[in-house]
Amino acid sequence: MADIVVLGAGMVGITTALALQERGHACVVIDRAPPGSETSYGNAGIIQAEAVEPYALPTSPLVLLQMALGARNAVDLHWPSLPGQFPALLAYWRASGARSLREIIPLWRQLIGEAVPRHAALITASGAESLIRREGYWEVHDTQKGLAAAVQAAERRKAEHGVEFAVVDGATLASAEPAIRRAPAGALHWIAPWTCLSPGALVAAYARLFAARGGRILTADARTLARTGAGWQVAGEQAEQIVVALGPWSPELLRPLGYRMPMVRKRGYHRHYSGATHLRRPLLLADHSVVLAPMRDGLRIATGAQISTAGPSARPRQLRRGEAAARSLLDLGAPVEATPWSGTRPCLPGMLPLVCRAPRHPGLWLHFGHGHQGFTLGPVTSARLARAVDGDAAAIDGLDRGLD
Ligand SMILES: Cc1cc2nc3c(=O)[nH]c(=O)nc-3n(C[C@H](O)[C@H](O)[C@H](O)COP(=O)(O)OP(=O)(O)OC[C@H]3O[C@@H](n4cnc5c(N)ncnc54)[C@H](O)[C@@H]3O)c2cc1C
Repeated sequence: MADIVVLGAGMVGITTALALQERGHACVVIDRAPPGSETSYGNAGIIQAEAVEPYALPTSPLVLLQMALGARNAVDLHWPSLPGQFPALLAYWRASGARSLREIIPLWRQLIGEAVPRHAALITASGAESLIRREGYWEVHDTQKGLAAAVQAAERRKAEHGVEFAVVDGATLASAEPAIRRAPAGALHWIAPWTCLSPGALVAAYARLFAARGGRILTADARTLARTGAGWQVAGEQAEQIVVALGPWSPELLRPLGYRMPMVRKRGYHRHYSGATHLRRPLLLADHSVVLAPMRDGLRIATGAQISTAGPSARPRQLRRGEAAARSLLDLGAPVEATPWSGTRPCLPGMLPLVCRAPRHPGLWLHFGHGHQGFTLGPVTSARLARAVDGDAAAIDGLDRGLD
């Protein structure tokens, strides 16, 4: 019998299992798919040391109107989904107010500050060095006005949180990245983030480390979870404790147990292209809200958020716009896949991930809702959860905001 079964083998589930294992727990991970093959596969692969503030909803009426009209590529609203998403969006909008953010940001900042050191230890132990670049990324601006506003915002972040950046003009950017054909106005170079050439492969490497240290990973459906006496049973495994780390699927598993977890479902798309794979650093095209990330499978264009509960689009607008912007800058080449990939960022309205005991079920732990930064934060909240399982409740102080 395992001490603890972790449900989910994304970045969050696998690093949970590693953190518990390091503290001496016998762990089993259960997933219906191979490790790192869902949201933790499809992201932009940035370990975001610069993301010292969470991704709040804009509160300016003008920006909200532009979003509603589809004028900004960061967000694509699927109107028929809005009634079902309304409670979560309203709570998100409230949490995005200045007073609430003042409460959230200090804890968020601490979590982000722990990310690079936590990943560094796992990257070394799992032998995944070849997947990682430690040179940051470029935030590219088309206009001088946009660049000046971004520099001002970055200077505030530097003053308040010590985040390092540099500013380069378009010609300097083009000479640093010879793949760029047309010099834009300029760019910020975020220096501290690390970037990954295959996010799914990094999770798979962490999973192999867990297995090499004696952990077991089983392929099964987590929805067989049931209470048995003082413990739990799932897919034929018995355990004293369960950790739910199913990312965007977590609320669905918990609903039959009586927990309602409103989640803002922010779908993202990506597609790989055969050209410009020799970019040295990823480019965030700030005016078009896409990341162009050089990956093992090609140049990955990753989009912003489509707020939708409907099925994915075959020709998503945000990707079409992002592709056009990328083609004006680079020799993009042909798409690698026949259709784009899509996945859902597991965003809780309060923006912080949920890391806590389930209030009404002994032995059940909740660990999901990492939203836009789960690839970055998985190892951080996992280490904190493992300390809490061993009785250090202070390690997860403030991380229970997503509970109703
Ligand atoms: C386009 C895009 C770009 C992004 N870019 C970044 C970035 O640059 N940096 C960053 O930090 N974050 C980024 N993110 C966010 C990040 O990818 C997520 O926050 C993170 O991957 C969530 O990890 P997870 O382990 O919680 O979920 P997942 O990786 O989705 O893992 C959940 C697991 O649960 C399993 N599962 C679900 N249901 C069942 C079931 N019934 N039975 C068994 N198993 C089940 C799934 O198979 C899956 O393996 C991005 C996201 C998107 C969509």
